[in-house]
Amino acid sequence: MLTSAQCFKKYGTPSTDNPYMVMWDVPSILEIGVIPKKIYCNKDLVIPLSKAFQNLIHTGHVNELKTWDGCFNVRKKRGGSTMSLHSWGVAVDMNAFSNCFGCKPTLSPGFVKCFTDAGFDWGGNWRKPDGMHFQLKSI
Ligand SMILES: [Zn+2]
Repeated sequence: MLTSAQCFKKYGTPSTDNPYMVMWDVPSILEIGVIPKKIYCNKDLVIPLSKAFQNLIHTGHVNELKTWDGCFNVRKKRGGSTMSLHSWGVAVDMNAFSNCFGCKPTLSPGFVKCFTDAGFDWGGNWRKPDGMHFQLKSI
């Protein structure tokens, strides 16, 4: 699983002017439901995230996406001392209202597969589940 140490090594100190960060103008064919028009994220996230969105749209699971809860956010991991992978814009949160940290995740296996097939790990499988959270498997 991708660690903050690997992100530090590849991307350096997280900040808004980190050269790896881009304002991704989401293609209009992917702007369905609550998928945002623009996402400030790591450039390494753009291809996997567009694949995941395409998977959501093609399978109809996009209807399950109720809230987009963000990508880039420089902060510590919830309940931890290391930096969250959101600090480098390589993680996204969705449907936070029904997939809170430590709660039983509610996302369907089909929805989760749209992301895992596109190169993401899902926080809902963790010992302390973070069901809203998907992060790149590797960078
Ligand atoms: Zn998250």
